[in-house]
Amino acid sequence: MLLGDKDISKILIGCCGAYCKTCPALINKSCRGCKLGYDTGNRDISKAKCQMKVCCIKKKYETCADCSDYSTCEIIQEFYNKSGYKYKKYKQAIDFIRENGYPKFIKIADNWKNAFGKYE
Ligand code: SF4
Ligand code: SF4
Repeated sequence: MLLGDKDISKILIGCCGAYCKTCPALINKSCRGCKLGYDTGNRDISKAKCQMKVCCIKKKYETCADCSDYSTCEIIQEFYNKSGYKYKKYKQAIDFIRENGYPKFIKIADNWKNAFGKYE
């Protein structure tokens, strides 16, 4: 089955809210993206280092936005509390998805030039 553009975009949202589709590291191929390859067996989730990713993929969630433990989860909330602008932006992405759903997020995020961006 061929994936539509919308489905491809969803696979390219990192579990933490980083948008891989517009991330320069994915575009220049220095990163394979957060989730690509685990569904096909090209990558082995038991070797992944990111705790959010391991948890999220094992639970078969698209991102941490789908998780009922999101607000109290120490793994993701500690990640968002790290110092650095990008962590706040990744949190904003997941919060936006939780409030507005994936299609609205993808429509906005497809215009970004980085793994995060503006919402106006
Ligand atoms: S930090 Fe983890 S969850 Fe976020 S994009 Fe990277 S691998 Fe995925
Ligand atoms: S428990 Fe935490 S890391 Fe795991 S899917 Fe839920 S929010 Fe993400």
